[in-house]
Amino acid sequence: MIDADCIFCKIVAGDIPSTKVLETERVFAFRDLHPKAPTHVLVIPKDHYANTAELADADPALAGEVLNAAAQVAAAEGVAHDGWRLLANTGANGGQEVFHVHFHVFGGKRLGPMLS
Ligand code: 5GP
Ligand code: ZN
Repeated sequence: MIDADCIFCKIVAGDIPSTKVLETERVFAFRDLHPKAPTHVLVIPKDHYANTAELADADPALAGEVLNAAAQVAAAEGVAHDGWRLLANTGANGGQEVFHVHFHVFGGKRLGPMLS
């Protein structure tokens, strides 16, 4: 459930500071340390799953809660009307650097294709 070496588990526990945007019983959202858009929030399950596939396999309802939280974040950030992007880098070729599943919520500007 918790990985002692995982920075996002430490953020959920409050051992590493973060700027919280939303919290539910099982989901946590906080601002990315290096924002790539005016809104750049990371939405994660509090429990540790390495990637999107592990989360979806282990607990599809929790995956839905994370998706719902992402939409709530977009609304709270005021980007829901103009449009926003939900991105989950998965595995090395997907550009994943932190192996606690997280969904990036980007918004607040016109986003390019981001496929490089
Ligand atoms: P990935 O490439 O794994 O999809 O994205 C990881 C994201 O986590 C990056 O956008 C990076 O800026 C962010 N990040 C890494 N370490 C920290 C941290 O300690 N705090 C916060 N708030 N964001 C972090
Ligand atoms: Zn973790």
